[in-house]
Formats: sequence, structure tokens, C-alpha cells
Amino acid sequence: MDIVCIVCPKSCRITAAPGNPPVITGNSCKRGYQFALDELTAPKRTVCTTVRTVFPDAPVLPVKTSAEIPKDRIFDLMREINAFTLETRVGTGEAVIPDALGLGADVIATSDLLKETIPEGENDR
Ligand code: SF4
Repeated sequence: MDIVCIVCPKSCRITAAPGNPPVITGNSCKRGYQFALDELTAPKRTVCTTVRTVFPDAPVLPVKTSAEIPKDRIFDLMREINAFTLETRVGTGEAVIPDALGLGADVIATSDLLKETIPEGENDR
């Protein structure tokens, strides 16, 4: 399989073939080797997206997973995120959906948008 390493901006083009041991060429460093090995066996990704909120001043909030999740679970996670509405004013790094899908990664806020401007009359929830 031909892949582009996404670990750093150098974007090395790597060729990876299963075997014992797998044959991996084109990587410039060990991290690239590990990325290619993971792509062959159990590809993972960090998911960045937005979640809907109940707050009119910020109807959507940027979020990401706190760790990489299996690539084949991304659509399941997006279904959970799309069905979710945030009702608490959280800030950067705070959990929006703890342990999403039981995968061991939280969906966390990547913005302080909801904490920066709290409309007058609204208590901090
Ligand atoms: S192989 Fe190493 S240098 Fe190349 S893109 Fe991946 S992490 Fe960066």
C-alpha cells in the first residue's frame, strides 16, 4: 500500500507491504515506520469536528478526540456527535462526551468560545 505519512509536515511517501516482518520503505524516521505499521494493522485517527450547542451566542463548538481512535469507528463517532447537543459551557480541553463509544478517548472542546462571552442574565451552567 502507498501512503502519505501524516505524522509531521514533511509528508513522506511510504510503501508498506504486509509480511513477517512487514516491508516498509520511504519513511524518514521511526515515527513514520510506526505510522505505516499501524496503517497496515490497525489504522487510527484523531477526529476534529464541531458539536451543536444550546447556546445562541455559539451554536456550534469546535471539538476533537483526546486520543486517536480506530479509523473504522469514525463514522460511528460522527453519528454520536451529530446526535449530541451540548448544554454546558465548557472550555478548551474539557470533556464534551467522555469516553465516546467506550473507545477510551473523550471528545473535548478545542475552543473557549462558550466561556469567553456569557450573555447577561445567563448563569454559568
Ligand atoms: S516519516 Fe518521519 S519525517 Fe517523514 S512525514 Fe513521517 S514523521 Fe515526518
